[in-house]
Amino acid sequence: MLAFVVGVSFVLGLLVGSFLNVVIHRVPRGESVVSPRSACPGCGTEIASRDNVPVVSWLALRARCRSCSEPISARYPLVELLTGVIFALVAARLGLDWALPAFLVFSAGLIALSVIDLDTYLLPKKVVYPTLFSTAALLLVAGAVTRDVRGLAEAAAGGLIAFVIFYAIHFASPKGMGFGDVRLSGVIGMALGWIELPLVGVGLFLAFVLATIVGVSLMVFGGKSRKDKVPFGPFLASGAMLALLVGDKVLELYERYFYFNG
Ligand SMILES: [Zn+2]
Repeated sequence: MLAFVVGVSFVLGLLVGSFLNVVIHRVPRGESVVSPRSACPGCGTEIASRDNVPVVSWLALRARCRSCSEPISARYPLVELLTGVIFALVAARLGLDWALPAFLVFSAGLIALSVIDLDTYLLPKKVVYPTLFSTAALLLVAGAVTRDVRGLAEAAAGGLIAFVIFYAIHFASPKGMGFGDVRLSGVIGMALGWIELPLVGVGLFLAFVLATIVGVSLMVFGGKSRKDKVPFGPFLASGAMLALLVGDKVLELYERYFYFNG
């Protein structure tokens, strides 16, 4: 049964990834994500359904437009594949759980926001709010069906705590921490809080660890200086994903080595 859920989630992820490509491309330009149909940026030809199959079409077309042979960026199939893999991992972690839809939507939002932040240094409200509201609504449904009052309470607390902490950091250093990061931290705190409140700490802590590792590496090997802008959204998203997937193991290790009362 678990294999089936993981498989279905993987295929669903490929399709959702295809939609995320549209979101990533259009939202920063202020364009609609529902219409018109996708077209080749080179020749403007509408992309036929058979050329719009996630990953497969890109391979079949050998990364070129069918009409004008303009190269198609590898980023499209990579976003699709990443979304498929993350959906499969989240499904493997949660199993057939009422909260699974909430966490798939949450993961999709994190992927779109990470790529947009890398492109534009912005985390658009038009993506953050739909991620927040649909994740919250799906968690409410899961909480109502399973009567999980603890989950809902910890989700609310997690969202609030993360938001307040990041708001304080933003207040102290508005240039270092944008308000988009503050909003996103609230969404992440809510989702991780649903699993268990300590995971919120793990996720946010991992975000800073990853940002530090990558930031220092970029300065040492990438010729970047301290003044270069590095978007924080992808680190928040990666920290949250890691906390969701392996955070319970991180907490176990922490308890084993830092609490000697067992
Ligand atoms: Zn074309």
